[in-house]
Amino acid sequence: MQEFNPYPKSKQLGHQKEKDTPKFKLQKPRKKRKPKVNKNIEMFHNRRIPHWKKRGEVNRKTANDTLRYYGEACAMCGNHNYALHHIMHKGYGIGGRGVWRNLVPLCELHHTGAEGVHKIKTFDQFWKDKHQKTFGPHYYKDAWDLWMEGHIENPTEELFEKFMKLEEERCQTSIG
Ligand SMILES: [Zn+2]
Ligand SMILES: [Zn+2]
Repeated sequence: MQEFNPYPKSKQLGHQKEKDTPKFKLQKPRKKRKPKVNKNIEMFHNRRIPHWKKRGEVNRKTANDTLRYYGEACAMCGNHNYALHHIMHKGYGIGGRGVWRNLVPLCELHHTGAEGVHKIKTFDQFWKDKHQKTFGPHYYKDAWDLWMEGHIENPTEELFEKFMKLEEERCQTSIG
């Protein structure tokens, strides 16, 4: 005997859900991951190089060395209200360090102001050229840079200063 069945069972309420939803799930395409470069840890010959942010900082000794060279005033106008400007910027990948030969005291006007190095490119270039001519092409580097570039045998303060002084002498003789 045939049952009275106006609809097939699959179309009856309560039996639909399962069949209407597809069994498979859409797979998300896998993201390709770029290898992460850790900007914070740098090794060279098994030695851990200090953090780049740290190397851009100015300590008291460095600041005093700059002020001994330029005096305690803006190097442009003599204003005693000054800040120390990094001639080569200290940002990651630019590589200016917190070394005294990379610094110059500037007042607000000549630093971040309307006539400042951060506003006017030719002024920015003026200081770069001046320090390059006076101290040589490595003026913005620290001992770690010189060591990694093979200019000094060890990243010590003594070897660094010795190298930089020779560079300075070389600049003076090439001008005269
Ligand atoms: Zn000034
Ligand atoms: Zn600055």
